[in-house]
Amino acid sequence: MPLYDFRCAECGLFDASMPMSEVGPSTACPSCGQHAPRAITAPRLGRGASTAMRVHDATARTASDPGVVSGALPGGPRRSSRPVSTDPRHRLLPRP
Ligand SMILES: [Zn+2]
Repeated sequence: MPLYDFRCAECGLFDASMPMSEVGPSTACPSCGQHAPRAITAPRLGRGASTAMRVHDATARTASDPGVVSGALPGGPRRSSRPVSTDPRHRLLPRP
């Protein structure tokens, strides 16, 4: 549901989430219950704190400003000391 801004004369600006079919020119303030008219504010494009917005922003940032490394990772390539497979038959397979 979309968020709408309302401005209470006593408490100030507050958000209310309601279906588009139910939003009116005013609503009751959740703090004091007074009549609060709807406020027109700038759209919150790109200010989302949701996970989807963070992922979208991070993806867009890597497209225009990819992280560049100047060398290999410290310690060289990582190799696990643990065998890839514990099945003894795999040791009999030909090796490159
Ligand atoms: Zn109020």
